Amino acid sequence: KANRLFHPGNSVIKIGDQTIGGDKLAIIAGPCSVESEDQITSIAQDIKQAGAGFLRGGAYKPRTSPYSFQGLKMEGLELLKIAKEKTGLPIVSELMSADVLDSFLEYVDVIQIGARNMQNFDLLKKVGKTNKPILLKRGMSSTIEELLMSAEYIMAEGNENVILCERGIRTFESFTRNTLDLSAIPAIKRKSHLPVIIDPSHATGLWWMVEPLAKAAIVTGADGLIIEVHNDPANAKCDGQQSITPQRFAKLMETLKKIAEIE
Ligand code: PEP
Ligand code: MN
Repeated sequence: KANRLFHPGNSVIKIGDQTIGGDKLAIIAGPCSVESEDQITSIAQDIKQAGAGFLRGGAYKPRTSPYSFQGLKMEGLELLKIAKEKTGLPIVSELMSADVLDSFLEYVDVIQIGARNMQNFDLLKKVGKTNKPILLKRGMSSTIEELLMSAEYIMAEGNENVILCERGIRTFESFTRNTLDLSAIPAIKRKSHLPVIIDPSHATGLWWMVEPLAKAAIVTGADGLIIEVHNDPANAKCDGQQSITPQRFAKLMETLKKIAEIE
């Protein structure tokens, strides 16, 4: 179902009155994790003002250490709802367990399946039984073929609203957190009709690399970007080193508007 052979046109995923995969570039922005009402509403208002189309924010966080901040969980989803009411921005948030799928169906507009769960086949099948748009991130050690097969797991259950995300893969290079595989964009476009977005924040782990790689993603054919934005990166509970400030995000958007039409 993800194969271009049986679906020659490009899929356009509808989210409210917006789309991902059309002629325009979709911009998803927001903090790695929701931390407080003030934090999420102020970032949401700033990114909306700058022209973002979607708000991201983790409520359930997949952290390497069990002692790191794990997210505000249900309270985080409630705060995302408040931010949506204030700005109208649709919400993108990561689902880690099917136990809370019903809450996600109620609170979230796009369900993110994170890199660490790309091959959690049971979770893929469960979100495949819904009709929510799914943002499927490539596993850090997964091939493009494996990513497409994971999309297939979701689509085989009936949900064809899948958006793919390249977020960097593990290589020998340690300067960056991951290595952005830009060639995934033309590779996926050749094999599949699904939209592809790029996450320059997790790909690099470095806030100052977000702009050059965002530009590169656009010229390589990406359908959108997902960018971490935090109002106080130095004190962020998660991923501060790769987060740009709302001021830098606004400048970045001005630059991107010169090379792409933004949704
Ligand atoms: C995230 O988007 O905050 C995240 C944890 O991403 P990934 O699954 O790509 O590591
Ligand atoms: Mn993050």
